[in-house]
Amino acid sequence: MGKVDGRKNGLLGLDWLPPAFPLMGGEEEAAQPAAGRQSLEVHLIALGTTPPEWLAALAAGLRHAAGWDCARRSEVKDLSFALLASRGQFYSTAILARLEEEHARLKSWRGRPLVLGVADVDLSLPIFTFVFGEARDNGPCAVISGHRLRQEFYGLPPDRPLFEERLLKMAVHELGHTLGLRHCAGYRCVMATSYSIERLDLKSLEFCAACKAQLASP
Ligand SMILES: [Zn+2]
Ligand SMILES: [Zn+2]
Repeated sequence: MGKVDGRKNGLLGLDWLPPAFPLMGGEEEAAQPAAGRQSLEVHLIALGTTPPEWLAALAAGLRHAAGWDCARRSEVKDLSFALLASRGQFYSTAILARLEEEHARLKSWRGRPLVLGVADVDLSLPIFTFVFGEARDNGPCAVISGHRLRQEFYGLPPDRPLFEERLLKMAVHELGHTLGLRHCAGYRCVMATSYSIERLDLKSLEFCAACKAQLASP
C-alpha cells in the first residue's frame, strides 16, 4: 500500500460501505502489538447521554492497546443540531463538525491532540442506513457510537466485555483514520471496513504490519 496523502482530507471513516471486500486469509501477522506507541493524546467527549463508564473503558483500553493517553473533555449533551428527525438518528458529519469546533478551542496540548466523541445514539448519514462511526482522513476528530454495538440491539443478552471490545475497536479504527490510515483489505486488521457487527467482531484490535508501518513512518 502506498503512503497516505496527508493533504487529502476526504471522509474515510464511514463504515457503511458494502464493498465487494474479499475475505482474505493469511493475515496472521496482524497479531502484533498495536500502533507504534507514538505519543498521542486523545480527548474523549461524551455525546448525549453516553454513560461515563464507556469513556472510562475506552481510556483504559486505548492506553493498554496503543499506549495512547486519554483525557475527558466536557460533554456535549444536546445533539438536537444533528437530529435526522424523520429517522430518529443523528447526522454523524454534523457531530464531527461540532467536535472540530471543540477541538479548535483546545489549547496547550502535548503530543498530537485528537478528539474522540462517543455517542449512545444511532448515527447515520442521510443516504445510508447507519454508521458505527466517522472520521476525516488526517483530521483532528472522530466520532463513534455504541448504539449498535450492544448485544441488546440485536435481541441478545447483554455482554459487557464484548461491547467494550467493540467500542474499543471502533475507537482505534476511527482514530486510525485521523492518523491517515485508510481502509485495509486485511480482514483481521482493525482498519478493515466494518459495515456490519459481524465484520466488526471478525477483525482484531490490532493494526496489521502494513498499517503499523504506515503509522510509524513520518
Ligand atoms: Zn473506517
Ligand atoms: Zn491493515
